[in-house]
Amino acid sequence: MIERRSEIFHKNGPLLDVRDLKIHFPITGGVFRRRIGTVYAVDGVSLSVAPGETLGIVGESGCGKTTVGRSILGLYQPSAGDIWFKGVNVAELSRKKIRTIRRNMQMIFQDPYESLDSRQTIGSILEEPFVIHKIGTKAERKDCVSMLLERVGLSMDAVSKYPHEFSGGQRQRIGIARAIALRPELVVCDEPVSALDVSIQSQILNLLLDLQNEMNMSYVFITHDLSIVKHMSDFIAVMYLGKIVEYAHAEDLYKNPFHPYTKNLIASIPKPDPFVEKERYPLSGEAPSPIHPPSGCHFHPRCPAAVQKCMIDSPVLTDFGRNGDAHFAACHRVLPGR
Ligand code: SF4
Repeated sequence: MIERRSEIFHKNGPLLDVRDLKIHFPITGGVFRRRIGTVYAVDGVSLSVAPGETLGIVGESGCGKTTVGRSILGLYQPSAGDIWFKGVNVAELSRKKIRTIRRNMQMIFQDPYESLDSRQTIGSILEEPFVIHKIGTKAERKDCVSMLLERVGLSMDAVSKYPHEFSGGQRQRIGIARAIALRPELVVCDEPVSALDVSIQSQILNLLLDLQNEMNMSYVFITHDLSIVKHMSDFIAVMYLGKIVEYAHAEDLYKNPFHPYTKNLIASIPKPDPFVEKERYPLSGEAPSPIHPPSGCHFHPRCPAAVQKCMIDSPVLTDFGRNGDAHFAACHRVLPGR
């Protein structure tokens, strides 16, 4: 099933192919720091991204989406599963080899201020990737830094300034310039605009789209905001408590959501016209803890459509697509061929 999904969505083969990824963090306690529990942060996630495409991963805070993004870059060691990137299994690489492959995979962080070293000038922050990977002479690196600044819409004056001298939007432009410096094939964008004012968000999103068109990069775009991910993504994976509950073409997912959780996320997007009536899909309660996930379908304590079976059997992610379009959902109440 996992292999089939990646073949269905990417007939020419994916650039990134994550298979049955599990990231379980131990909880320790007591004098001897014994293991007393487990956080099931990511629990059997499979996804894929083709060259030049964007996969949006959406879900509430704590659903495991950032953990997936970080493990793709080798920042977390998987408890199980594979992360294939250009035919290499990142999950099996040593730290030294991961550093080499990371030249081709970069990350844009949610908080641009936290991700930039406040003691370094912007010139030195942008030159650093070239220094680490021993690329170019000093003069060539200086030229590259000027080109990067120009490409993200900042002036050359920025070179001698420090991160605190810039606004949030400008700092995110610097973060983007650093991420694209070595022309990576894959960029993981972790909530890249959620810390920014609404007026700046669209400028940053448009910059990311322009850069993707120019450089044919693939994005894994992580966000809690379904309205943002719609404009950025070719495919969307919806996560809930460590698992993917729906996975489809972006357009199809918005027009025809199957899973009650996705329906709720879509119903929560504010509508620009106050006279257009919104479909209501209320959820009860808070998201449960990934330390003690509920039995059966993890979503059943909050699901308005839950039945007895949902409390016992965990639904499998299944293709309910029509007319040859694949559309996966993990829910007992989706009718085949609907
Ligand atoms: Fe709701 Fe049951 Fe479907 Fe889970 S399996 S989403 S509880 S209807």
